[in-house]
Amino acid sequence: MRIADAHCDTLYSIGVHGRPAEGCVVTSDGMRRGGVCLQTFALFAGGEGPAGHPYENALNMCAAMDDTQVPMLLGDLPEDMPDTPHGILSIEGGEIFEGSVSRIDEFSSKYRIRLAALTWNHENELGYSAVSGSGEGLKPFGLRFVREADRRGILCDVSHLNDAGFWQLIEQAELPPVASHSDCRALCDMPRNLTDDMIRALIDRQGFMGINFYSRFLTKEGTPTLEDVFRHIDRVMELGGEKILGFGSDFDGIESWPDGLGSPADFPALIETMRLHGYGEDALSAICWGNFWRVLKQAEAHRSL
Ligand SMILES: [Zn+2]
Repeated sequence: MRIADAHCDTLYSIGVHGRPAEGCVVTSDGMRRGGVCLQTFALFAGGEGPAGHPYENALNMCAAMDDTQVPMLLGDLPEDMPDTPHGILSIEGGEIFEGSVSRIDEFSSKYRIRLAALTWNHENELGYSAVSGSGEGLKPFGLRFVREADRRGILCDVSHLNDAGFWQLIEQAELPPVASHSDCRALCDMPRNLTDDMIRALIDRQGFMGINFYSRFLTKEGTPTLEDVFRHIDRVMELGGEKILGFGSDFDGIESWPDGLGSPADFPALIETMRLHGYGEDALSAICWGNFWRVLKQAEAHRSL
């Protein structure tokens, strides 16, 4: 089974922390062994918010792309989902844009970013993060960003955004809203996870939700198992989310993960778990790559700049 993964932080490990590519969790060999044919590599703003040179960090990560030895799709997507490892780029933390539309242009035209999380865990020029506790919606540049992203075929990513920002984005974005790496708040009560109502909104808007493998978003008790990951997948399915579900592993950005799901090479074990629970092949291929591929293609078709 081919796999598409909507989020990892491997380029940050290589480009900012200076880790050798072969020492990362996501490697081209691991992707090949696990069937991961499309890996989204995030340009992560870094842990210090707007003050921490996020734009320079992003450029350093772009410069590290070749180290991954994963061919990056920086132009139009192929007609069909790849069947060998490939990469695409995203943004995690809108402070990378430094409040400037020309920066959005730069990352769109030069690096063809496909999705962008408006915030990481800090307040920035666009809005407020999930962990900020703020009830404020998007800032003026955040609202402008949603319009500019739509025109450029960039999907707005609500992962890390606060709840008020989420609801505003759901109303404002023309393209399908995506949560690249978030789990179910009903099963693990963390602000980074999505409530059932939020998941229903993503379903209504035919968006996308990538299940995150970070232990602390899956369970509050000990090390999660593949069954715990399945519980989050199944919750979204029960809400009617067969057409929005996917994966956002967060590999290389997390310090704990489920037993038996520590790298891209482990995806087949998760698929087997879903099969054992009676998921059919159509549902599996939608979850494993079809749903993410659909929103990517929709975004590209919408691109007018
Ligand atoms: Zn993240």
